[in-house]
Amino acid sequence: MLRQVLLAASASQGVRRLITTTPLTRAVVNRFVAGERAADALVAAERLLASGLSVTIDYLGEDTAQPDQAAAVAGEYVSLLELLSAAGLTAGGRAEVSVKPTAVGLGLPEHGAKTAAENITRICAAARDAGTTVTVDMEDHTRVEATLRLVGDLRADFPDLGCVLQSYLRRTPGDCEALAVAGSRIRLCKGAYRAPDGVALAARSEVDRSYARCMRILLDGPGYAMLATHDPRLIAIASTCAGATGREASSFEYQMLYGIRTDEQARLAAQGARVRVYLPYGSDWYGYFMRRLAERPANLAFFLRAVAARG
Ligand SMILES: Cc1cc2nc3c(=O)[nH]c(=O)nc-3n(C[C@H](O)[C@H](O)[C@H](O)COP(=O)(O)OP(=O)(O)OC[C@H]3O[C@@H](n4cnc5c(N)ncnc54)[C@H](O)[C@@H]3O)c2cc1C
Repeated sequence: MLRQVLLAASASQGVRRLITTTPLTRAVVNRFVAGERAADALVAAERLLASGLSVTIDYLGEDTAQPDQAAAVAGEYVSLLELLSAAGLTAGGRAEVSVKPTAVGLGLPEHGAKTAAENITRICAAARDAGTTVTVDMEDHTRVEATLRLVGDLRADFPDLGCVLQSYLRRTPGDCEALAVAGSRIRLCKGAYRAPDGVALAARSEVDRSYARCMRILLDGPGYAMLATHDPRLIAIASTCAGATGREASSFEYQMLYGIRTDEQARLAAQGARVRVYLPYGSDWYGYFMRRLAERPANLAFFLRAVAARG
């Protein structure tokens, strides 16, 4: 219930104004976001790579409303990739980028799919020059079909373009079967957006069961599996499954969000697993921040306590 309220609030301009202008918000946001500038992301990435982790960097923003703004987002990614490459962080794909389709134009009223495809192509070309990869995030259920089409088309030129699937969607086991082909890179997560019952599983236990099922499909297949979860039970199942299917540690990776379960990130890496941290930066952090609050009511309590202490 609280989750639904927070996800609804993530789309409200009034709540956005209230939260983004509360002075203490910034301190809480800093737990989840590396900073506002690419240089901040670079510093955080260097620190994470030095501790044996990999990163995928997200320039925050979504639902871009103008074509030139969408092109500017692509430009930011191109500059970021040049910066990462110059700092030697992209070697072996240890620092890559994650892109939201609506940030680069998918939701534009005219030629959205074409604009997003052109912008992601620019980003993929820059990533290839830098020796690394791109993963396309999955947004709310209304974007899934267009996003999968976009990724399918771009894979003709960029076969290592990664894509996200969400286990809370009823369709996802089928998508896993279809996409777990040789050379594919699939990130599996539970899903962070609002979705109606018809398209999504409502109970957390069902979402978890679906995650385990999808994970098995990916680990059984020939593609590269990227298991994005902080859930200790699912991580344990992943490790058992990988052992049972004879997966090498280098043929799949765990992924977690910046600032969440950092002890578990370190523990898995110390055991020889590949672990990648999703590292967001930028000033448009509102939607991302609200989804993190929605995932865990304790985060909301922490936020409210910080604001109350200030008052
Ligand atoms: C690398 C990565 C990429 C992602 N990309 C996408 C995407 O493209 N599209 C999409 O819809 N979703 C994406 N997500 C978010 C995902 O869908 C979930 O909402 C999120 O990961 C929480 O689910 P969980 O699997 O960690 O399980 P949960 O059952 O939610 O959490 C398990 C445990 O992890 C910890 N935890 C989880 N979330 C938080 C939090 N916010 N704050 C503090 N502790 C927490 C808690 O200890 C919790 O008990 C991504 C997640 C990751 C890790």
